[in-house]
Amino acid sequence: MSITENLNKIRSSLPSKVKLVAVSKTKPNEAIQEAYETGQRIFGENKVQDLVQKYETLPKDIQWHFIGHLQSNKVKYIAPFISLLHAVDSMKLLETINKEAAKHNRVIDCLLQFHIAQEDSKFGLKMVEAEQILESDKFSTLKNIRIIGVMGMATYTNNVEQVSNEFKRLSTIFQHLKAKYFNEDQAFSEISMGMSNDYTIAVKHGSTMVRIGSTIFGARVY
Ligand SMILES: *Cc1c(COP(=O)(O)O)cnc(C)c1O
Repeated sequence: MSITENLNKIRSSLPSKVKLVAVSKTKPNEAIQEAYETGQRIFGENKVQDLVQKYETLPKDIQWHFIGHLQSNKVKYIAPFISLLHAVDSMKLLETINKEAAKHNRVIDCLLQFHIAQEDSKFGLKMVEAEQILESDKFSTLKNIRIIGVMGMATYTNNVEQVSNEFKRLSTIFQHLKAKYFNEDQAFSEISMGMSNDYTIAVKHGSTMVRIGSTIFGARVY
């Protein structure tokens, strides 16, 4: 099936409130352009250098999301234009994002990444670490970042029950943080969870943003 057909199929299966991030990492501009022509505007990348190149050569109304682990020393390259950072998992990174955003007079939206999978290779915060960040004096001084929700990746497994439980945990984490720190804050509203192999499960458990790559663009060749 074509990229257009894949996109249409996915869109028809998603509730209208769920945003679709088309994960275009490793894919050429032509593939992104085809998706763009169907109306897709949110694209996800996980390598700074590739993202900058795509930003420079593709239409300027694309909303670029950075979905990978971001190194502090690379924030400056994407700070001028990035629309959302999905995988923020340290105070140090938040401070750097804040500093670089200020240089461009921007407020950059971020999601806190939580560790929900059993695999220990995946990045992400524990609840206590997130609370330490949110309760710190330093955090309250960061005026050029805005936390708009949480992000997580489930274990890569066919075990539906396990994946369900991991997504349920992220939903619970979101609700806890919302009640405790963001009750008055309308912007704190996003749960980024679900990829090609598990997005239908994620949507059942309250995902507001799914990140789908290979089901749209085909398998990645590295
Ligand atoms: C690559 C990637 C995706 C998309 O993966 P697919 O299985 O191709 O849908 C989603 N989220 C993150 C963080 C990724 O790195």
